[in-house]
Amino acid sequence: MQYLHEPAIPSLPIEGDVCRFPVHRIYCVGRNFAEHAKEMGATVERGQPVLFTKPADAVVAEGDPVPYPSATSDLHHEVELVIALGRDAAGVVPVDHADALVFGYAVGLDLTRRDLQARAKAKGLPWDIAKGFDASAPLSRIMPGPYPRSERLWLEVNGTQRQAAPLSDMIYSVAEVINELSKLYRLRAGDLIFMGTPAGVAALQPGDAFRAGIDGCIEFSGTIAAP
Ligand code: MN
Repeated sequence: MQYLHEPAIPSLPIEGDVCRFPVHRIYCVGRNFAEHAKEMGATVERGQPVLFTKPADAVVAEGDPVPYPSATSDLHHEVELVIALGRDAAGVVPVDHADALVFGYAVGLDLTRRDLQARAKAKGLPWDIAKGFDASAPLSRIMPGPYPRSERLWLEVNGTQRQAAPLSDMIYSVAEVINELSKLYRLRAGDLIFMGTPAGVAALQPGDAFRAGIDGCIEFSGTIAAP
């Protein structure tokens, strides 16, 4: 009998460190900017954030190719602040203790097969095939330290600005999202949290060059490769 390989642990570079950040899970928040919720035809109510996940090995580090995915003709960009946890949670994390779990932050794209998501929404089906596909989470390196709270988050495609908004526009704060997630999952060191996208989501094509950043904090770039 031939034994299977142990899969490699997905990881990301850390700014100023030779060690890499091992990724445990990827959590995502939906509809965390009112203007984006509106453009998706959703109403925003505070109460329960929209939460979903991607597989850990969906991460793509800067410099690696981001292939145009299969089974879609409407791949959308969603630029997001990403939070990296550096400690395990001991059960439910109170809002005022949540920042103690944070190792650092990054900027990433929550790539979305929008056509499959629209079909799933129409039928009341889960979003997994629209959100949790291979290479659906291109990310910058991880910046250790406190995350930005009010700086401008932005995305350019082929030199033209597509999305931009201050992080202070987020409906749920990082601490509130960590609190909510910790009621549902055991949060661990290595978890990443995509914090939701501002308005301006639109299609990407093979060959498109993107540049994303948070003013004064971080910037990264990449190219959408052929399928
Ligand atoms: Mn998103």
